[in-house]
Amino acid sequence: MAKKFDAIIIGTGQAGPPLAGRLSDAGMKVAILERKLFGGTCVNTGCIPTKTLVASARAAHVARTAGEYGVMIGGDIEVDMKKVKARKDEVSGSSNKGVEEWLKGMKNVTVYEGQGRFESPRTVSVGNEILEADRIFINVGGRAVVPPMEDEDVPYFTNTGMMGVDFLPEHLVIVGGSYIGLEFGQMYRRFGSRVTIIERGDRLIKREDEDVSDTVREIMEKEGIDVRLNAHCINAKKHPDGVEVIVDCDQEDPNVTGSHMLWAVGRIPNTDDLGLENAGVETNDRGYINTDDLLRTNVEGIWALGDCNGKGAFTHTSYNDFDIAAANILDDDPRRVSDRILTYGLFIDPPLGRAGMTEDQVRKSGRKALVGKRPMTRVGRAVEKGETDGFMKIVVDADTEEILGAAILGVEGDEAIHCILDVMYTKKPYKVLQRAMHIHPTVCELIPTVLGELKPLV
Ligand SMILES: Cc1cc2nc3c(=O)[nH]c(=O)nc-3n(C[C@H](O)[C@H](O)[C@H](O)COP(=O)(O)OP(=O)(O)OC[C@H]3O[C@@H](n4cnc5c(N)ncnc54)[C@H](O)[C@@H]3O)c2cc1C
Repeated sequence: MAKKFDAIIIGTGQAGPPLAGRLSDAGMKVAILERKLFGGTCVNTGCIPTKTLVASARAAHVARTAGEYGVMIGGDIEVDMKKVKARKDEVSGSSNKGVEEWLKGMKNVTVYEGQGRFESPRTVSVGNEILEADRIFINVGGRAVVPPMEDEDVPYFTNTGMMGVDFLPEHLVIVGGSYIGLEFGQMYRRFGSRVTIIERGDRLIKREDEDVSDTVREIMEKEGIDVRLNAHCINAKKHPDGVEVIVDCDQEDPNVTGSHMLWAVGRIPNTDDLGLENAGVETNDRGYINTDDLLRTNVEGIWALGDCNGKGAFTHTSYNDFDIAAANILDDDPRRVSDRILTYGLFIDPPLGRAGMTEDQVRKSGRKALVGKRPMTRVGRAVEKGETDGFMKIVVDADTEEILGAAILGVEGDEAIHCILDVMYTKKPYKVLQRAMHIHPTVCELIPTVLGELKPLV
């Protein structure tokens, strides 16, 4: 016989646990299912561990460059990878434990540790049990894409496997020159590995404007990372030294031999083994669950939240999905996905903070626009810190005067972008921000100046 609940949540990523809290606070009886690690990708194999590792890599970089600041450390800087991993495990582990304890301590919530699978539009199996509810929330996230290789035995890492690394790869070959590949690339270069990043496209992070891609490439190459673009037919096979990646670039050397290989070529949703067909829930051709602006699937009473709905691939988009679902279901507050403005960070050093449209998207939209750009060499705080790579750029609608998008690639860019993002949410003219007085010396203090120097976008 099925066990009855008011709500079932499949997955404990960024949306599931807070939703369990809200629903149980509202007096509902909730079942939440997790088949692997509490907290999902961000907590265990994504944001939290990678940003902890980025911090260790930065410490190595600061130590190596300390002499430029008059701080003499002396000798070679060595990185103890076992300690680096232990620190990462501590930070990530405590977050994982926190989510588990939080869920297990919630009133009205039953935690099931196992694979959830739809048996019908209202029932989900887990282990030997069948659970039933009128409301079911899917928060199953995604995993790394591993393309089929001619040599099936070729050893490789994904972001998940990298979490177990407690040694220094001699030469890490990263396939994929986007956000995840770039973060791991700079991190391992700073730990002391030789690093090659192989990218199929003709530039890194192709979704960004060309000036962003080019500057990121300069930042990578300045630290001694090899970047190989136009790798049109990537393949890999075992090699006595580790792995040989066939690049077939339009460049001189067609192969790269490394000690280890990391796949960072994209993510796919965990929707293939969820029994969605038993519930009649529709996906698109890439497996992402189709939802409307309120995150409802085509089946009444079933919602899809987080990476698995293809409406965002970030921790903050998944958490925002929770906010939207909870607002509509519990608060009679008609929040929608289309209310939010795209924003994200690339956590290399210096980081990229992004909000809204790219310059290229604005140009293609055909609207009349203005653009302002300033190199970080002309930002006092960056000069004082000796970190002048990058630039800030803001694009504004010439008619409405609303800010359409911005990129801050530079020191503190991941924080400073919020100064622009928050004004975008107000839908007020950019002049509001242009007239604001900011703290000196900060990166944000130059944002009004950039807005005072806007030129027509051609
Ligand atoms: C290396 C890396 C770095 C990242 N860095 C950032 C960053 O800096 N900032 C950022 O915003 N985002 C970052 N992301 C993306 C971010 O981690 C994800 O967008 C976020 O975790 C999505 O959360 P989610 O709620 O969709 O699901 P997930 O966190 O993926 O959780 C889904 C959970 O569901 C469970 N599950 C799946 N199927 C079932 C089933 N059938 N039954 C039971 N349980 C199931 C899984 O085990 C998992 O625990 C990064 C991702 C990676 C890979």
